[in-house]
Amino acid sequence: MSRKLNRILVVDGSEVARTIIVRILNEEMPETEIITCGTVEKACEWLEQSHFELVTTALMLRDKDGLELCRYVRASRNHHYTPTIVVSGDADTRLLREGFAAGVTDYFDKSLGYRAFAEFIKDFMQRKFGLVGRILYVEDSLTTAKLHMRMMEKHGLQVTHTTHAEEALQLLHNNDTCAPVASESFDIVVTDFFLQGKLTGGDLLHAIRAKFHYSQQEMPVLVLTGSEPGEKQVEVFHAGANDFVSKPVLEEVFMARIRSLLLIKQQFTALKRQTEAMHRQAITDTLTRVYNRRYLLDHGEHFIASRENHPVSAILLDIDHFKKINDNLGHIVGDRVLEALGALLLERVPEHAMVVRFGGEEFAMLVPRCTIDEAEICADRLRLDIEALTPASVSITVSMGLASNQHNPELNLTQLINHADKALYAAKAQGRNQVCA
Ligand code: GH3
Ligand code: MG
Ligand code: MG
Ligand code: MG
Repeated sequence: MSRKLNRILVVDGSEVARTIIVRILNEEMPETEIITCGTVEKACEWLEQSHFELVTTALMLRDKDGLELCRYVRASRNHHYTPTIVVSGDADTRLLREGFAAGVTDYFDKSLGYRAFAEFIKDFMQRKFGLVGRILYVEDSLTTAKLHMRMMEKHGLQVTHTTHAEEALQLLHNNDTCAPVASESFDIVVTDFFLQGKLTGGDLLHAIRAKFHYSQQEMPVLVLTGSEPGEKQVEVFHAGANDFVSKPVLEEVFMARIRSLLLIKQQFTALKRQTEAMHRQAITDTLTRVYNRRYLLDHGEHFIASRENHPVSAILLDIDHFKKINDNLGHIVGDRVLEALGALLLERVPEHAMVVRFGGEEFAMLVPRCTIDEAEICADRLRLDIEALTPASVSITVSMGLASNQHNPELNLTQLINHADKALYAAKAQGRNQVCA
């Protein structure tokens, strides 16, 4: 049988209770192997033989007492850090008084029922082991690195190890410039303070904050120190560390620090995503997905004045007899036509062009590095594409007016748009479904 991801030992004197718990836990946590037994003696045998990620025990057992099992777990080499949960009928005073000294991690009130118990265990396991994150780990001692990597990887973390700060900086640089998706970049850095290369952990920290401009939220850093005096620890914080642990590290302390830094990072990412979504919403037209008029007014002036965009051509596009579509087929069909037209423009317009919904059924496009002749070719191609589109089974045509600042770089946004608008008016007057410059 293949080894499941996690293993839990459930100790309960009642066979009925054991059967129900196993059934529910198997349902709720199919990835986890559940082993049960009825006595402390049997539990200790199991703990000797295999590794468990969690132990739950009743307080009263036939041979010995649940707290005794907890003490055994704490004293054992293999399970020293394994969480132990006591399941009891009531908040026993003895449990409260002695439980934590005996090494009880948490307790569960049995009267809440088996379903609640399964939920509790599932939640506990997720909080305890559900570490997700990519760690950049810098440590020059290979023995230490091996030990720490085993700890981190055991908890599901992805670790990239380097021995030198120089190499770490290179990886962070790549991270900054070519990580294709955020999930492939590092979440936090864990670094030894003393490194063998020219750069120390302190230099690495300094570079992370001052060169890459990563804030403590964007790239949390955990520093591993020896047993330094207080001043050294202050220095670590001055250099921009979020936290430090002294070596040799205790696995539980190490993991707790990493967990809290990952949490900071996750909150940062969530906040950033939310801010970006809000910004996008504020500048996008909801129906057509192109930029809204507000965006054009805020950024258009700079866009046409920018030297690298010169010459800029403006294309104004207006649907012919759109009112008839609304009148004959209804406003909803009209909306679907606008939606489809927006999608087509976004797809077909030249790269880096700014596409804007300028008014009801009128769109404006600013095309960078585009002469009036090129704009004419581009616009005519669009016109034909739109004629062939028949969005929502409606045939539509458009008229377009063009203007460019190629001979007059001083033109401002209003002037450029006015010229294009005059050309659009001419296109309408000359019979529609055509492009006028
Ligand atoms: P022309 O060829 O001269 O441009 O004729 P037209 O009918 O397209 O122009 P007009 O300006 O007379 O009418 C534009 C219509 O577009 C009027 C308005 O109700 C409609 N419209 C504006 N915004 C929306 C919208 O968001 N959805 C829908 N369905 N219709 C809209
Ligand atoms: Mg070192
Ligand atoms: Mg129109
Ligand atoms: Mg119009």
